[in-house]
Amino acid sequence: MKQIMVALFVLSFHFKGFSQTFLTAPIRSHIEFLASDELEGRGTASLGEIRAANYIASVFKNASLRPAGTDGSYFQPFEVSIGIEGNAHKLTARNVVGFLDNGANKTIVIGAHYDHLGKGFQGSSLSPNSKNQIHNGADDNASGTAGLLELARYFAGNSVTEKHNFLFIAFSGEELGLIGSKYFTEKPSIPLTSVACMINMDMIGRLNPDKGVIVSGWGTSSMWGKMIPDLAKKAKLKYTVDSAGVGASDHTSFYLKNIPVLQFFTGTHMDYHKVSDDIDKINFEGESQILSLIAGLLREVDKQSNDPDFLTAGNPHTGATTTDFKVTLGVMPDYSYSGKGLKIDGVSKARPGDKAGILAGDIIKKLAGKEIGTIYDYMEILGQHEKGEQVEAELLRGSETKIVKVTF
Ligand SMILES: [Zn+2]
Repeated sequence: MKQIMVALFVLSFHFKGFSQTFLTAPIRSHIEFLASDELEGRGTASLGEIRAANYIASVFKNASLRPAGTDGSYFQPFEVSIGIEGNAHKLTARNVVGFLDNGANKTIVIGAHYDHLGKGFQGSSLSPNSKNQIHNGADDNASGTAGLLELARYFAGNSVTEKHNFLFIAFSGEELGLIGSKYFTEKPSIPLTSVACMINMDMIGRLNPDKGVIVSGWGTSSMWGKMIPDLAKKAKLKYTVDSAGVGASDHTSFYLKNIPVLQFFTGTHMDYHKVSDDIDKINFEGESQILSLIAGLLREVDKQSNDPDFLTAGNPHTGATTTDFKVTLGVMPDYSYSGKGLKIDGVSKARPGDKAGILAGDIIKKLAGKEIGTIYDYMEILGQHEKGEQVEAELLRGSETKIVKVTF
């Protein structure tokens, strides 16, 4: 009965003229491989990560994308320091980068991280007794990686030569703190000034049609709000928005380089960062709809005479709200830090944090006389201040405590 219903739905869908651009079968087969036990959870710098990278490169190659990693390969290696049984070890991880060269001046970057938690030795698992258990990460983020691969095949395989080039990047080191995307934006294979915008997909496999997709980065360009509502309506896709350009995924690294960004996310769930994030709960139809929305959006962006403008909207907050703060420090929190206070991973130039002398690596313990326990305390404090106000921040730099004056 269910099968017949699906068939009727698809037929009526075609009848109305919306042919399904993104088939569920290839999405499924990418996730099947990436989230299989064979890859052992794709831990950063593990053998499973390398095998996933090889798979991604082979799809890029079959789509005739040009290698855009290091030394003419698809791979961009970078060093990570991973704590294993209490000791820090330097290991090599890699981004996988493919370029669709349309001979244009400007390039649209499409990204998704492909690393996950491996066998639970690298921290951040929420499963009890997680050590030596495979974390397949079907939603986080085999789903986004599958989306990246299908968008690559779509733009490389269509009969249109767009007015932009496309750079497809599968990031590693995301779960350890956006390390791969940060590395890419420091050592980009194309000039960052030629990047028109960056579209990220992190966890797009669990669409609940009633709740819709969460679109973050909405406030980073005025173009998003002009285009997405109509496109979502056409795709019959509900959505909620989050204006912030800073969030817990790789779009943040690009936003901090003043590039308009969008991040697509189907929401958190009971299996998030647990060994139970498996393929059986993936909504392939839902992912296909989201990819149609993204492809439609990129076709529209490509047609415009101007590239998306960049707007500042960098307040770190999560959830599906349109709430925005009037002030921000312009700093990127280290999401992998679990101690007290707000650990700073990056500081945007010429923003209040930078002007106050806050550096990457500092831990903000107090702001405006209030203790910061978690990032949520920080957000709450920001919400209580106006532009132009001056407050004190208490920092821990190494073992030294410092007080600086911040002007919002
Ligand atoms: Zn993720």
